Amino acid sequence: MKRRDRTLITHAGNNPKANKGIVNPPVYHASTILFDSVEDMHARGRDKFNNVYYGRYGTPTTFALEEAVAALEEADKAVAVPSGMGAIAGALLSFLSAGDHVLVVDTAYEPTRFFCDSQLKRFGVETTYYDPLIGAKIADLIQPNTKIVYLESPGSHTFEIQDVPAIAAAAHAKGCVVILDNTWASPLYFKPYRHGVDIVVHAATKYLVGHSDVMMGIITMREEFYKQVKTQVHGMGFAVGGDDCYLALRGLRTLSARLAQHQESALTLAKWLKDRPEVERVLHPALPDNPGHKLWKRDFLGSSGLFGVVLKPASTERVNAMIDGMELFGLGFSWGGYESLMVPSNLKTARTATKWEAGPTVRIHAGLEDPQDMIEDLARGLDRLRGN
Ligand SMILES: *Cc1c(COP(=O)(O)O)cnc(C)c1O
Repeated sequence: MKRRDRTLITHAGNNPKANKGIVNPPVYHASTILFDSVEDMHARGRDKFNNVYYGRYGTPTTFALEEAVAALEEADKAVAVPSGMGAIAGALLSFLSAGDHVLVVDTAYEPTRFFCDSQLKRFGVETTYYDPLIGAKIADLIQPNTKIVYLESPGSHTFEIQDVPAIAAAAHAKGCVVILDNTWASPLYFKPYRHGVDIVVHAATKYLVGHSDVMMGIITMREEFYKQVKTQVHGMGFAVGGDDCYLALRGLRTLSARLAQHQESALTLAKWLKDRPEVERVLHPALPDNPGHKLWKRDFLGSSGLFGVVLKPASTERVNAMIDGMELFGLGFSWGGYESLMVPSNLKTARTATKWEAGPTVRIHAGLEDPQDMIEDLARGLDRLRGN
């Protein structure tokens, strides 16, 4: 039976009947797994990625989390890894060899770019960055040795929406694997497999965990790529602890309720900010006047709590005074927890294929506080920006 998303979020991966009726799966702490016989050991080893075989390959706690995320994303399989960056590195390295070429969106998460420009380069893989708005014209950039087209939509800090189906179709026509970072929307608000994506990476650290207390990454995929990805990530030694998997699964159970509130609060703040005289524009794809709005509306099922604000020209000193004095908006990396955040966006060095010409830009994560308190905090912040 096809279950709807909120039902999946509530029950997928749980099996109380196998567990004395206890609602949540137990936390297994395991390295050694004992076998009944040598024959049993060999038999389980032949299918070690789908079995309890050795701690590094996962336990029933890991499998419960992976099963739940895969179901929600409409993927066949998921693999949990120790961080979002681990998911990105693991997914890319699963398909790349020396001499290959990869196309990466210019607005990718900055550490993704760093990974391509340093580690991938060192192993003889060349990266070309492309305009997030390129659409089907990506075909012109695909070389005979291009193995992967990598997407992240909306883009980090500037929130451009990519035409995922057009890019995926062009990539597939030339035999490339399509990988997408779906952290912003989470598996709830964007369904990559409906739009031609082959592999999805998540910083589960953000909305899936949702409480700012665990580093976790998830790679989801179709069955055909499972063995290749799992071989790669476990070959690199990536393994996640049972306690962290438990916390991620516990976070996932409330994803639909949290995300609905993040969405509503972010839109409330974005609309309020848009009308302020200190603000040049708001970078939020769910606002109708946003350049990416049409594509967002066509492909996405919702928007999350993270968006950008371009300010009218102001000195760094005044922008810093605004940020430093915020009471409810913490200054720090990561996002997707229950609390609000505000960080300055450094876009001068983060783009190479496209230009970003705009005033000082900040990124806001709307947490679960009362939006009216957040607005009052922002109003005092804008007073400091003006020098009052
Ligand atoms: C945070 C983030 C990552 C990296 O996740 P970590 O768990 O911090 O390694 C990857 N992609 C996006 C879009 C992110 O925001």
